[in-house]
Amino acid sequence: MESLFARSNEDLMDMLGLEKPFQARIVRQFLIKGAESFSEMTSLPKAERERLDRAFRSTFSSHVIARSDAPSAVKLAIKLCDDAVIECVRLSDGKGRYTACLSSQVGCAMGCAFCKTGTMGLVRNLTAGEIVEQFAHLQKLGERISHIVFMGMGEALSNFTSAMDAIEELHREDGFNISYRKMTISTCGFVPGIRKLSELNIPVRLAVSLVDAEDDVRSRLMRINRTYPLDTLKAELRRFQHRNDKRLTLEYCLLSGINTGEESAEALARFAHGLDTVVNLIPWNAVEGLDFKTPSKREIEGFCRDLRRLGVSYTLRMEKGGSIGGACGQLASESRRS
Ligand code: SF4
Repeated sequence: MESLFARSNEDLMDMLGLEKPFQARIVRQFLIKGAESFSEMTSLPKAERERLDRAFRSTFSSHVIARSDAPSAVKLAIKLCDDAVIECVRLSDGKGRYTACLSSQVGCAMGCAFCKTGTMGLVRNLTAGEIVEQFAHLQKLGERISHIVFMGMGEALSNFTSAMDAIEELHREDGFNISYRKMTISTCGFVPGIRKLSELNIPVRLAVSLVDAEDDVRSRLMRINRTYPLDTLKAELRRFQHRNDKRLTLEYCLLSGINTGEESAEALARFAHGLDTVVNLIPWNAVEGLDFKTPSKREIEGFCRDLRRLGVSYTLRMEKGGSIGGACGQLASESRRS
């Protein structure tokens, strides 16, 4: 069965053979509470519950097939209705704030060299319902999740309609009620998607996976840069910032010996100049089969020193999900269809 999440009442009535709109509203409310079977929907008439229970094995189109726990992250592997597998992560900051990291595609077409998902190629886009279901699965772990980042598998802005429909659904006041301002979309620099997002004018946050600020190096690491080089990307980010007035995050995955030298820091400072940004430094976590190295403490400190000297505002993020393979670019290829 296709996902029941992110559907209008009319769609739910059609899909479930419901006769009255109020019954669709009841189904929506129970879905948001995490009901996995129609028998749990006690506000529906008994006969209707029994009919739906006979017709549908579960209210979810996907199910959790594996869970990995680390001190501040829980990763779920989720099997979709066509047997494709995706992953999502719940991150905790240790102070009671929980963030859902969601996937938007099975695999990814962008092929970034440092990313395990990129080695899969694109298998397919997720529907809005499949994106929202990940959140529902993570919410069932027990804590209220207040923030969402689209940093799992896939380039969300290249699955634009589904990603935006999912955002709308997650934002609905009578639904999960997550503020737009607490949602962040990560992009590898897919300029047409950034343009469309800026035209929508919703106050979601944008994080750009920059990784390097020199065209030759970035084009080797990220194929997207061959189509949308740094000048084009920066012009689009300026436009985005002009409309949205939001501070951007530049994600900078530190790759030992590649983008941690003084010249890289200077290029990064030039790129950041004129934008309201904070650079998020993420030391690369080793991924089997990818030939990059995690920078040493000394290398990281040297890069941070250069950024301070150049007046670049940055944070250093030691990946919370790293130990369970849930860090950016590492939600991985167990996700092939089985
Ligand atoms: S880093 Fe993001 S955009 Fe690049 S291949 Fe990985 S998932 Fe796709």
